[in-house]
Amino acid sequence: MQRALAEQELILDNATVGIAFIKQRTYQRCSPRFEEMFGYGPGELIGQSTRAIYCTPEEYERDGSWYDQMQDGRSVSTERQYQRKDGAVFWCKLVGKAIDPAHPREGAIWIYDDVTAEHAARASLEASRDALERAVADRTAELEQAKARAQHLADHDALTGLPNRRLLEDRLTQALALSQRNRKQTAVMFIDLDRFKPINDSLGHAVGDVLLKEVSLRLVNQLRVGDTICRIGGDEFVVVLPEVKRSSDIAQVAQKVIEHVSQPAMVDERELAVTCSIGIAVFPDDGRDAETLIRNADAAMYHAKELGRANYQFFTEQMNQAASRRLALESDLRRAIGKDELRLHYQRIVEAKTGKVVGHEALVRWQHPERGLVPPGEFTQIAEECGLILKIGEWVLREACRWATFIGTERGLQIAVNLSPRQFTDPKLAQMVAQALKETGLPPRLLELEITETLAMQHTDITLSTLRRLKKLGVSIAIDDFGTGYSSLAYLKRFPVDKVKIDRTFVAEAPKDREEGAIVSAIVALAHALDIEVIGEGVENDAQRTFLQRCGCDYIQGYLTGRPADSDAAAKDYV
Ligand code: C2E
Ligand code: MG
Ligand code: MG
Repeated sequence: MQRALAEQELILDNATVGIAFIKQRTYQRCSPRFEEMFGYGPGELIGQSTRAIYCTPEEYERDGSWYDQMQDGRSVSTERQYQRKDGAVFWCKLVGKAIDPAHPREGAIWIYDDVTAEHAARASLEASRDALERAVADRTAELEQAKARAQHLADHDALTGLPNRRLLEDRLTQALALSQRNRKQTAVMFIDLDRFKPINDSLGHAVGDVLLKEVSLRLVNQLRVGDTICRIGGDEFVVVLPEVKRSSDIAQVAQKVIEHVSQPAMVDERELAVTCSIGIAVFPDDGRDAETLIRNADAAMYHAKELGRANYQFFTEQMNQAASRRLALESDLRRAIGKDELRLHYQRIVEAKTGKVVGHEALVRWQHPERGLVPPGEFTQIAEECGLILKIGEWVLREACRWATFIGTERGLQIAVNLSPRQFTDPKLAQMVAQALKETGLPPRLLELEITETLAMQHTDITLSTLRRLKKLGVSIAIDDFGTGYSSLAYLKRFPVDKVKIDRTFVAEAPKDREEGAIVSAIVALAHALDIEVIGEGVENDAQRTFLQRCGCDYIQGYLTGRPADSDAAAKDYV
């Protein structure tokens, strides 16, 4: 018994945890570690209330309930903040167990462990977890912003900041859903600037960009808050007017837009004026989905262009049919090239004074399996727009050169070939011409290339360098349809051209109309002063021929002296 007590004493004295024996909430015995932990001297706590280690009387009261817990043999195990004798507060983990479960207050053993260090570690862990969470949240927010920025870029046009085609389709689809519900109309206006390309090409992209921004601004200022304005291509804009009541309202908006866009704009101290053409399609009559409405508004815009630009047109079913005819023609045309359906007809060019044949102009036709012989006016524009003109042009050039050599070059008859605008701006043009001459063996001086006046005047820089390259090959150059492009004759001086062809609209009127007559004789006089020869086109009667002869016009071409004929018929000029 004595030994057991001594052993207990030993354990109590050396335990690394604090141990206390408490009765009626009063210290009966405390281990040295306990006293050290709470900052008391040996035996100092004996007889004192456990209130001594509590920070507040309330906490002391609260923990009185532990004794009820211990009554059915359970132990108390928890963590508490206690106060040392010097007032310092620290965290303790404690476990208590009654000696007799029936009367816990009469005696319980309590074990205390200082866990301040663990608490500090846990707190700092929590703090760093909070910091981490904050950092993650910040980063997520940044990513969200970046994503929003990227989304904005993907949905908007970089130059004007307007929504692009992608966003347009979204917004339009939303507007249509709303219209459907409210039984209202939604209008789609397709706006295309007239003759923007020449401005862009001749004054440079920087000027073109400023102009586009100015136009966007005017559109934004003209329209209401709920309207969507998008830029969907170079000089193409689409406006969505949701919930419109009457078509006259739409027409009014379109008219307003045309007026405001056409106000001159100052760009680089230069006054620039553009007009625009507008096509309008209205939900639900002209289409029930975004794609159809945009396509139909586009078709209506084309129609507005055809009617002379700077106006608006509503979509009609006929336009739809015209558009699908165009599409069919385009795919037919693609096949035509491979299937050998293209033909060349040749029209005489004769000396005005003598009527002697000096050469021929090659004019393309399309021998369509169902439509018959299709004139170039009905397919060259489409071919130009879809790029097929390059292939067609190459074929025409080769075929014309081949024919001219086949027929014989001894009489020195020239063969004239028309170049389309697209071909003329093709960087490989000179190379292609050189190749055709080489392959067919046609002497370069017998080939004349015709370019239209409007084309020549539009891109003066490109024109000059291309013309010089062609001239170097030894071919001659004619300006076709001269007089229709409103360019000043003085311009001609700058170009190395050999001939001008006076457009047939002037020739037709010249003998009857004094003004037209004066223009024709002025062209001839000026051209001659510049060492340029003149061909009168579309000569259909004697009066016209006589007039041209009197003016000193060098050559004539027209039904009067010969209609375009197929290669066999035309070959007769050579025998
Ligand atoms: P263009 O180069 O001015 O050709 C003259 C056009 O006037 C031809 O029409 C010709 O048939 C027509 N013509 C000739 N004499 C008379 C006349 O006395 N009265 C009337 N009313 N018309 C006359 P075509 O063959 O229909 O060609 C129209 C246009 O198509 C040509 O005008 C030319 O710009 C273009 N074209 C023709 N062939 C080609 C080609 O191979 N390539 C390119 N890029 N364009 C071509
Ligand atoms: Mg021509
Ligand atoms: Mg012509």
